[in-house]
Amino acid sequence: MQLVLASGNSGKIREFKQLLGDEIKAFSELIEPFEIIEDADSFAGNALIKARTIYERLGEEYLVISDDSGITVPLLGDVPGIYSARYAGEDATAKQNLDKLIIEVSKQTDRTLAYYTAAIAIASKYGEYVVHGWMYGEVIAEARGSHGFGYDPMFIPKGYSQTLAELDERVKAGISHRVKALALAKPIIEMLRKK
Ligand code: IMP
Repeated sequence: MQLVLASGNSGKIREFKQLLGDEIKAFSELIEPFEIIEDADSFAGNALIKARTIYERLGEEYLVISDDSGITVPLLGDVPGIYSARYAGEDATAKQNLDKLIIEVSKQTDRTLAYYTAAIAIASKYGEYVVHGWMYGEVIAEARGSHGFGYDPMFIPKGYSQTLAELDERVKAGISHRVKALALAKPIIEMLRKK
């Protein structure tokens, strides 16, 4: 079975290749990319929509993997959550999303609990699977550091005093929500490929 990633994001493709090996292909290498409406109300639901839609286009010889992720701030009513990529608007940049969350946090406090979630979905002829990984910590009402991406400059992981954007990237690679979810997905993928 050919492994396919239901994403065109080069950063994600790199992370998945590191854990699952180079034979994984981006779906855009196999078919013309097309828009997928992610209208579920959870990370798991949206990850499943992506994996299932591409699996249905490609067919039984493929095992399709997708992920959906974001950051949640309970004090603000669990925002931005599944809307993390478009918090400041449909075409917002990562910087605009970050700035908006900093402003919203700063209206209430200078730091508060937050967590990242990653859901990874697998669609194959043997069925569908979803696993999750989480990274807990706090968000602060300012941006610090230049590593990582997205909301990392305002996120301090539990047990650390610097933001993810200040810490060495190897620290994030050991504790991130996506890496934890991938570690759970890997044995499922290996089991399905052996069937
Ligand atoms: P997705 O590509 O639909 O999964 O969108 C994920 C969004 O959540 C990204 O655009 C980021 O805003 C945010 N996000 C997810 N994971 C991370 C992370 O590890 N660091 C920073 N931001 C993240």
